[in-house]
Amino acid sequence: MPGFELFGDAERKELNDVLENGVLMRYGFDGMRNGHWKAKELEQELQNRFGVNHAQLTSSGTTALNVALAVMGVGAGDEVIMPCFTFVASFESILASGATPVLVEIDDTLTLDPAAVEAAITPRTKVIMPVHMCGSMADLDALQAICDKHNLLLLEDACQAFGGSYKGKMLGAIGDAGTFSFDFVKTITCGEGGALLTNNSDYATWADQYSDHGHDHIGSDRGAETHPILGYNFRISELHAAVGLGQIKRMDEFIAIQRRNHAILKESLSEIPEVSFRRIPDPEGDSCGFLNFFMPTAELSNKVVEAFASYGIDAYWNYFNNNWHYIRKWDHFKELKSLFPLSDHVKNGLSGLEKKEFPQSDDLISRNISCLIKLSWTEEEVRERAEKMAKAIKSVL
Ligand SMILES: *Cc1c(COP(=O)(O)O)cnc(C)c1O
Repeated sequence: MPGFELFGDAERKELNDVLENGVLMRYGFDGMRNGHWKAKELEQELQNRFGVNHAQLTSSGTTALNVALAVMGVGAGDEVIMPCFTFVASFESILASGATPVLVEIDDTLTLDPAAVEAAITPRTKVIMPVHMCGSMADLDALQAICDKHNLLLLEDACQAFGGSYKGKMLGAIGDAGTFSFDFVKTITCGEGGALLTNNSDYATWADQYSDHGHDHIGSDRGAETHPILGYNFRISELHAAVGLGQIKRMDEFIAIQRRNHAILKESLSEIPEVSFRRIPDPEGDSCGFLNFFMPTAELSNKVVEAFASYGIDAYWNYFNNNWHYIRKWDHFKELKSLFPLSDHVKNGLSGLEKKEFPQSDDLISRNISCLIKLSWTEEEVRERAEKMAKAIKSVL
């Protein structure tokens, strides 16, 4: 991550195809577009590469989650279980659906703790939403078993683990639906964009309609199309899809670079007995977009953060002290600073969140350091970095 580091001729060529005929929209204008259908082509690429029957592009990863929840029939009065360590899009999309987000602890995979998920199930639970944070996956067998037992749907947020897999299947293609983001800092980027994957043909039809005002997309006269369902506009443009198409053709190259760089850093840090790593349910499937490690105490992890800065190392975070990814600093959410009234069900469901404690996650996140794996580093640069990181860590022990 991120794919923009290696923008080149492939992306430029796809984009020029669109600019040359000027059709920036993914639907219609058949005669003008000289056979260029970039969004359709990118959806086909996703289907082929991820081994799923349907891919629906959207305007962002967040709107891919909106569409996923909609096609799963999630709405007022429902509950969706999500982790307390994730990106804000998780609760944003659930709130947008009208359902109540139910936040639970993570475990040492840095993703949903299956025991905490099971304890949080109520008669209103409809979906379990694991988020494959920082490149690696949740324990999908355990979560699928819980879904089967309680008749729930599994929605994988694979936005940060593009190209990873679990027991031979691609992440995002395993649950009832899965989502990707192609925003500017993701492994494959098109500026802004997202995708929903599913093998469920009803979901696919509804996603196609819902993301474009409910249009049925039958025939070639957009104005004459009917609207079988209510929808929104979550469309991707041809310009964005074109860049994504150029990028996805380089997916194998990008993942291979991430894996090489990750292996060099991990090997170097493995030699320090005080350093431990997150548990990875299927190590072979790690997309290696990040390297996450734990120090024995929060105090030591803070010292490592300072030492990294003084050794000139960049691109790392301790999420305990970061506003984006952990519940601790989500005051706007805990205080429900909504511009418009929320339902009583949502308000009541979230009323205890400010005081709710997540001791297991606090311990893990406060001791964790997450290092971004860049695509543009040369092997020599990674080796130098690995040596510096090890030195910095040893300096505080
Ligand atoms: C980036 C991201 C999203 C949302 O993506 P956008 O395209 O920026 O809307 C959702 N979930 C996770 C885990 C992400 O990292």
